[in-house]
Amino acid sequence: MTSSHDKPADVFAALKHLRAEKLAIPDEAQFPKTAMDRLTAAGVLQAPLPRAYGGQGLGTEPGLGLETLSLLHGLGRISLPLGRLVEAHVNALRIVARYGDAAHMTKAADGVLAGSLFGLWVTDPSGQGELNIHAQGDALRLTGGKMFCSGAGHAGWAVVTAFDPGCADQRLLLLRMDGSEQVSPLPAGLSGMKAAVTGQVDFTGKHVARNDIIGLAGDYLKEPDFSAGAWRSSAVALGGLFRLAELLRDQLKARSRADDPHQRARFGQIVMAHETGRLWLRHAAVMAEKLEAPPEEIIATVGFARLAVERVCLDGIELVQRSLGLGSFLTDNPVESLMRDLQTYLRQPAADEVLHNAAGYFLSHAFCAKENNDADV
Ligand SMILES: Cc1cc2nc3c(=O)[nH]c(=O)nc-3n(C[C@H](O)[C@H](O)[C@H](O)COP(=O)(O)OP(=O)(O)OC[C@H]3O[C@@H](n4cnc5c(N)ncnc54)[C@H](O)[C@@H]3O)c2cc1C
Repeated sequence: MTSSHDKPADVFAALKHLRAEKLAIPDEAQFPKTAMDRLTAAGVLQAPLPRAYGGQGLGTEPGLGLETLSLLHGLGRISLPLGRLVEAHVNALRIVARYGDAAHMTKAADGVLAGSLFGLWVTDPSGQGELNIHAQGDALRLTGGKMFCSGAGHAGWAVVTAFDPGCADQRLLLLRMDGSEQVSPLPAGLSGMKAAVTGQVDFTGKHVARNDIIGLAGDYLKEPDFSAGAWRSSAVALGGLFRLAELLRDQLKARSRADDPHQRARFGQIVMAHETGRLWLRHAAVMAEKLEAPPEEIIATVGFARLAVERVCLDGIELVQRSLGLGSFLTDNPVESLMRDLQTYLRQPAADEVLHNAAGYFLSHAFCAKENNDADV
């Protein structure tokens, strides 16, 4: 384990190395423990900690959008479930850094330095069973649970949202998993992203302290942070598209089909699709991580970037299926599970609303930052 006093690990060199040695996820239905251990040893889980706490500030300090994009895209190239687990870890630590106090951040940093993965569990079960906080004198007790919890049963810590009747609003809690939680699979499993082990967690009966509450009521939904974070899952997803393009290239060559004009045209389209997504994400990552532009512009830009990445990934999947044919559906072809993972991961909340709101913003504001400056496009 790297201590907080060591020189920061070169996580990008480590990722390159892991890719070169084809770090594999041997069983798509299991938590990728060995791969996660390798990432931990490479300093990947530590990198999102703020620099003052032994990390590199990736995702938690302003101005590091492009570095964070490289990290998440690089992870997506290795494995989408692995990337999703680290993305959630980054998101959770960002919330602690942004809304927590020094004691929260110290607790979180100690957890990371001890090798823990963090989860961010904010989705309530539909109908009854949402997570609630009950006051019992000075102590607090939880009832209910969370759905779609990536890393359930494997994350050592989680940031969760819970309803607090005391203020009639959602609070953020920083919780250490101590075995008092009931972890179970989703009633019906997802067809892709199985290795992210997205399950459900029932916290009923768990006791928490008042200082496990982070920040103020309603902080989780505070804009622009709430919407601006969406670019990070897109970054991982786009890494998956990159891998898909690599596999397409390799398989076309292996089948001596790379010189066919139709195959070339499709390969060209997938390369252009990836580049489109990359340019959108660079723009969104810089803007979202600096948080300097007007909040509505950040939200609209990240929204468009997210939808642009969704579009290019869906186009990429179609191009690969046309190019490799039925072979891309054979379960021993890595393309098959990658496409399933990517299709699943792309299902992020409220896509229509994001497009509606982003288009609404740009109907009344310059829709290109350079619209009023011909000299700088
Ligand atoms: C791989 C994976 C891992 C995940 N891990 C976690 C995790 O660790 N923690 C966590 O909290 N969550 C997690 N989630 C869940 C995630 O946060 C969202 O809940 C989920 O992605 C929502 O996707 P959806 O397509 O069902 O969204 P929805 O918002 O339900 O969208 C489905 C469709 O309905 C439309 N729609 C949305 N709202 C309305 C409305 N009011 N009226 C009409 N139409 C509407 C949308 O535009 C879209 O067309 C995970 C999801 C995935 C895919």
